[in-house]
Amino acid sequence: MSRIVSKFGGTSMGDALCMSRSAKVCVRRNSSVVVVSATSGTTNDLIKLGELSENGNQTEAEALAKSIQTKHLKIATDLALPSEPLSELKVLLSEMESIARGIYLLRDCSAKAKDVLLSLGERLSSVLFAQALQTAWPQKKVKLLDVRSVLKTDETFGKARPLTTEISKLCEKKLGNLKDGKVVYVTQGFIGQTLAGATTTLGRGGSDYSAAILAEGIKADTLEIWTDVAGVSTTDPRLCKDAVVIDEISFKEMSELATFGAKVLHPATLLPAIRQNIPVLVASSFEADKPGTWVRREVKNSPLIRALALRKKQTLITLSTPEMLQAHGFLFQLFKIFNDHKISIDAITTSEISVSVTIDSSETISPQLMTELSQVAEVQIEKDLGLVSLIGNNINHTPGLAKRIFEAISEINVRMICYGASRHNFCFLVDEGHASHVIQKLHQKFITGV
Ligand code: ADP
Ligand code: ASP
Ligand code: MG
Repeated sequence: MSRIVSKFGGTSMGDALCMSRSAKVCVRRNSSVVVVSATSGTTNDLIKLGELSENGNQTEAEALAKSIQTKHLKIATDLALPSEPLSELKVLLSEMESIARGIYLLRDCSAKAKDVLLSLGERLSSVLFAQALQTAWPQKKVKLLDVRSVLKTDETFGKARPLTTEISKLCEKKLGNLKDGKVVYVTQGFIGQTLAGATTTLGRGGSDYSAAILAEGIKADTLEIWTDVAGVSTTDPRLCKDAVVIDEISFKEMSELATFGAKVLHPATLLPAIRQNIPVLVASSFEADKPGTWVRREVKNSPLIRALALRKKQTLITLSTPEMLQAHGFLFQLFKIFNDHKISIDAITTSEISVSVTIDSSETISPQLMTELSQVAEVQIEKDLGLVSLIGNNINHTPGLAKRIFEAISEINVRMICYGASRHNFCFLVDEGHASHVIQKLHQKFITGV
């Protein structure tokens, strides 16, 4: 019997109807482990709840907590939740209130406390979804698994890293009975636990990654990502109305696409899938009849340009110093500073006396970072830029490609270009205000071909 891990995102958990629809998908696909996100908008609400409580805004915090409760209790009623899971749900809802109150009293929402608060989103939705699935699939025993008993992580609260060896052992121990085919597990995405027992989260959008980690842990045959679009498109359908769903894409291309902005998959999702060579299906839980996109090691076609991606809200940091001239160790010094501050750099270019790097606006440029950088170079910061990427194959060995790209957008000022490092990616930075236009122009030129 093949083992399938199926993950459903927030919109697929939106309300009782969405949950029942997603449950039917699990039955049709014969899922073994189902990983769910928080109901649509709940993680954002919980973040807001933490902020309001920390800022002493009790009335608004209480109103928000109430609306989160009402939303989940309504789904419980619509799904006719039996008394046992209903009391479980109520315990979680009052835990949410207590945590918010604790944050309010202390006026402190540490990263560690925030992770416990955010974990409630997935813990709540999984209780509800387990019932929806049991109703849709009476032939199976649906078991609700607290993923924290399996998905062990380090202590980087807010962006925890999974401990893969530990996870494999625990998957074997806790999910070994999948073999007999009588049980299906429902569990939470996004959350994990340190070895000391503290709750962690894997970063926004991390449920895809959780599903991939579990797929690796149970040595799954397939990982399925069920979302609100019919697969991976040639670009974000919200940016370009001509975007078309891709039937097949390689692991390497998809990794670039996800890293460089395609929100449809969390960028780390493919790491476990690549390690275990697990094919990944991305498809819509709303239109489950459509074929979706297969992400695989080997694919039939390898076009020059497969898709376009955009990462918004990029910050460009340019560091200049004449001391770099003919010197060695300067880049090491700079990168050590970024490393000490745990800042992840996306794109880099250098000249004789300067280096430019891009970072995501979610990274914090602290006064301490600025002081340390200013000690070694003159620092210039530009915000609100968009990183446009063309993803495909053999990109760094195709004569004339750069000319064709920049001809199509000749009126746009390009701030930085990264070319040559990857055969799968060509990216450059433009003003964020121009970014959607650039994507549309390039989509026309390289994908629809008009
Ligand atoms: P979920 O809640 O199911 O995890 P997300 O909102 O995280 O869903 O991801 C799905 C969204 O990703 C789509 O609604 C779409 O707007 C966006 N997206 C960005 N780039 C792409 C792309 N290349 N193909 C498909 N969707 C994309
Ligand atoms: N609920 C989390 C978020 O909104 C994780 C996820 O949906 O993947 O970021
Ligand atoms: Mg997502």
